Amino acid sequence: MQNKNKYSCINEFDPSALDEVKAIARITKSIKQIDKSEKVNIKQSFGRVCFENIKSKISIPSFRNSAMDGYAVNISQLKKNNYILKQTGISLAGKPYIKKLKEKETIRVMTGSLIPQNCDAVIMKEMVQIRKSSITFPDTIKKNQNIRFIGEDIKKNNLIIKKGKVIDYIDLGILSSIGISTVKVFAKPIVSFFSTGDELVSITKRLRKGEIYDSNRYLLFGLLSKLPVIIKDMGVVRDNELAISNKLKECSKISDVIITTGGVSVGDADFIKSALKKVGEINFWKISIKPGRPLAFGKINKAKFFGLPGNPVSAAITFQLFVIPAIEKMLCSRKHKKLIIKAKLVTNLTKKKGRIEYKRAILTHDNGDYIVNTTGLQGSNILTSLASANCYIRLSAETDKVKKGDYVDTLPFDIEI
Ligand code: AMP
Ligand code: MG
Repeated sequence: MQNKNKYSCINEFDPSALDEVKAIARITKSIKQIDKSEKVNIKQSFGRVCFENIKSKISIPSFRNSAMDGYAVNISQLKKNNYILKQTGISLAGKPYIKKLKEKETIRVMTGSLIPQNCDAVIMKEMVQIRKSSITFPDTIKKNQNIRFIGEDIKKNNLIIKKGKVIDYIDLGILSSIGISTVKVFAKPIVSFFSTGDELVSITKRLRKGEIYDSNRYLLFGLLSKLPVIIKDMGVVRDNELAISNKLKECSKISDVIITTGGVSVGDADFIKSALKKVGEINFWKISIKPGRPLAFGKINKAKFFGLPGNPVSAAITFQLFVIPAIEKMLCSRKHKKLIIKAKLVTNLTKKKGRIEYKRAILTHDNGDYIVNTTGLQGSNILTSLASANCYIRLSAETDKVKKGDYVDTLPFDIEI
């Protein structure tokens, strides 16, 4: 009798493969937050993870100021004086007028300038009538109009940036606005990586029959460059268990994380698993997703180890799904939850049951609806269909087909504006 669990061409269920959620949980559980920090000036803190809770020592605005170019008035005086006043001064941003408004007086104010203590409205320049010695105001003025109040943006002692926040351009604006010039950030974890494969050739050499250029190291370099880590490119290692073990040992002495690509499957020249067993510990080495089933996770001394698959798309996806959460845990970095957008399929799609499947796709919108279409060939070696994609479609393990017009989960890549 046939084994029910045996995975075949109609069902890809593999009982020894870990599901994605459990795999991420096992990875993050095994990782501790790093406790080293460094103080840097705020320009250097861009993209780094904040190590401290930052409170503001001042209010923003720190003084009442004008939101417009116009005239500062005291409404009660206006009413008394039949909406006609005389201009007796000017307040510019950085050149304040520090006296009080007197009876029958108004002053010219510019955006951002300090306004007199007893002023309770600013009227836009365009709303007044200017004559030689007098200015006539409309009678529709509302109290506090066009005035920016102390602390309306930031209140003194408010928590501005939480530990774990990735410092972005907005934070640089906010930190500088409250007069903070240096900030404590998490030290960068050291991530080393190397490719494995007898077929791999450096991009500066000529290819011979059966050889390919080593592209994964460049792909990984690009992926890692977006993170606050120190990148160590450790080159290429041949398909040889001893050579791989030695390189892993060497990397473990200098790294917090080690990443390899290739050699992690069940082929005759796949030595990652056995090398890892010799020099470290395997936590798991198979996950039930496509692309990317072979993925070894473990440790060598204190360094965490990720053996990613050799196919470039599988390497990219497994990096995004499993390595990034690990690095985020190390840095305690809190990002917004990943967006999942339900989108309407433009074509029919099929897959085998048993694994979650990620398809490269383009997400657009039309008439208030999200629309999604795949970007072509979906083989795990086809990097160009990843290049033209802006999201993944995620199909559950139980799904075997979805039809044109069905709504599917899409995971947009990092959205930047
Ligand atoms: P492997 O996981 O070693 O069985 O490799 C799977 C596929 O990925 C094979 O077609 C390899 O030639 C390819 N591959 C492995 N490493 C790389 C690399 N560094 N750059 C580009 N392709 C690779
Ligand atoms: Mg290989």
